[in-house]
Amino acid sequence: MKCSYCQQEIVRNLTIKELLFPLLIKSERCYLCQEKFKKITAPACPTCCKPGWTTRCEECQQWQAMYPRYDFCHQALFSYDEAFKKWIQQYKFLGDFRLKATFISEIQAYFSHKKGWLVCSIPLSDARFSQRGFNQVEAFLQAAGIKTQDLLEKDVDSTPQSDKNRQERLAAPQVFKATKAAANIKNKKVLLVDDVYTTGRTLFHAAEILQSYQPEKIQTFSLAR
Ligand SMILES: [Zn+2]
Ligand SMILES: [Zn+2]
Repeated sequence: MKCSYCQQEIVRNLTIKELLFPLLIKSERCYLCQEKFKKITAPACPTCCKPGWTTRCEECQQWQAMYPRYDFCHQALFSYDEAFKKWIQQYKFLGDFRLKATFISEIQAYFSHKKGWLVCSIPLSDARFSQRGFNQVEAFLQAAGIKTQDLLEKDVDSTPQSDKNRQERLAAPQVFKATKAAANIKNKKVLLVDDVYTTGRTLFHAAEILQSYQPEKIQTFSLAR
């Protein structure tokens, strides 16, 4: 079996279960690639997972003032540190599609607590999609066997958020609109998924659009924060 990040061969004995049911063998990271990524642990902001906070962080207080009727809650798995930036560079910007499998076990573990939720990934514009060839969020969800709904589309091809500073990101205009399928989310729980949470701007814009379709609640999730 190959490591789902560095692609080196992983040498380990299979368990009895895996020998009997080879389909149960999940893609995994080698020991070194396991150690590379830092999981977000307590203390972290209760509404956005920003490390180091025990109460709602300053950024979340600002969001709450801006969206007083949106009871937001964001969860993230890993710290957006140098190691994660390197991974996302290789996956998203260099287009190494194999890396969609890097975090399968962590994603499956998280989504096992989200049965019954409608999952929607943040869309790319058509132009960006053609350029990249895949939606990086959709791809890691699919690799983990998570079904998604297309509730949003992105018309305008905005400057990538990664090229902007915090103030520019926060001032960015709305770029999403709802698809016809959004009519089905009334009284349902919706989970919006992105790769990285930086300012929160993208996910708040996405949630803002879906709020008007009266879901029971909206939560958001990203691999890193
Ligand atoms: Zn590895
Ligand atoms: Zn926060």
